[in-house]
Amino acid sequence: MDMQTSFLDRLFDAGLLIDTGVDGLYGRSGQFEDVIAAFERLIDRFADDNAEVIRFPPGMSRAIFEKSGYMKSFPQLAGTVHSFCGGELDHMSLLKCMEVGDDWTKDQKATDIALTPAACYPLYPTIARRGRLPATGGLFDLQSYCFRHEPSKDPARQQLFRMREYVCMGTEEQVTEFRQSWMDRGVKMMEAVGLDVVIDVANDPFFGRAGKMLANNQRDQNLKFELLIPITSTAQPSACMSFNYHQDAFGTKWGLELDDGSVAHTACVGFGLERIALALFHHHGLDVTEWPVAARKALWG
Ligand code: AMP
Ligand code: ZN
Repeated sequence: MDMQTSFLDRLFDAGLLIDTGVDGLYGRSGQFEDVIAAFERLIDRFADDNAEVIRFPPGMSRAIFEKSGYMKSFPQLAGTVHSFCGGELDHMSLLKCMEVGDDWTKDQKATDIALTPAACYPLYPTIARRGRLPATGGLFDLQSYCFRHEPSKDPARQQLFRMREYVCMGTEEQVTEFRQSWMDRGVKMMEAVGLDVVIDVANDPFFGRAGKMLANNQRDQNLKFELLIPITSTAQPSACMSFNYHQDAFGTKWGLELDDGSVAHTACVGFGLERIALALFHHHGLDVTEWPVAARKALWG
């Protein structure tokens, strides 16, 4: 059995994650949730910079999702919500279809909702609608379940997982400074809970051959960094935080303007909450009462 499956099985056996029969789709125990809640409080303490708190549900406007260009870059990861939109006759044929075991899903129609792929996606058009940003720029605190179609036996690669994000909108200098400050805070936070990390340059998993160029460009320009912690592999540690600088790409796309009318630069910092909880369980053991005192104190006071 490989390391990923054995860790997943141990998490199931301990009741921390609950099997649903679908890889990457799990229930969570109260204990698992308590670790995430405690870690989020730790994030709050480190943040301390009056970000505006906004919470979106895990589904977003399909129109905004389409405009975001997600299907161009990551069609393999996207999830859309489809529903039955027919009348009574269609309902009868649907039931017949299900009864005989045929594919009933082909007649489902796309709704106006797509599953949120990253917590910050619904934010940019929302803020653009408000008009120009104040002179101080914008700082936002987000958290959402996110969907990515990447079924896996690796418990650190889930299909529905939570991302806590901070997003900064402002001048190039403001947002790159914001990103750097979170890289420093990220290292300190993980140190406080007893996790060894490395930060490395990274790229998003752009689709296909054309995507390779985008990925190379992203790396060459240092647009994405990740904070890595070994969870199910030491050779390939898992990204538990990401630090993304979008330059003025989202500002231009969504019409985000600074108070002088220039295009805003943006950056976002994402915490993978399940991955952080899993890193803690992997390193300190499945019984939280046995965790190192310093880590327990950082989390629960
Ligand atoms: P990304 O937008 O890909 O940089 O993702 C932001 C953060 O979400 C990553 O640093 C991970 O911690 C977390 N994440 C991404 N994909 C997954 C996944 N499939 N399962 C769990 N966490 C994930
Ligand atoms: Zn983001």
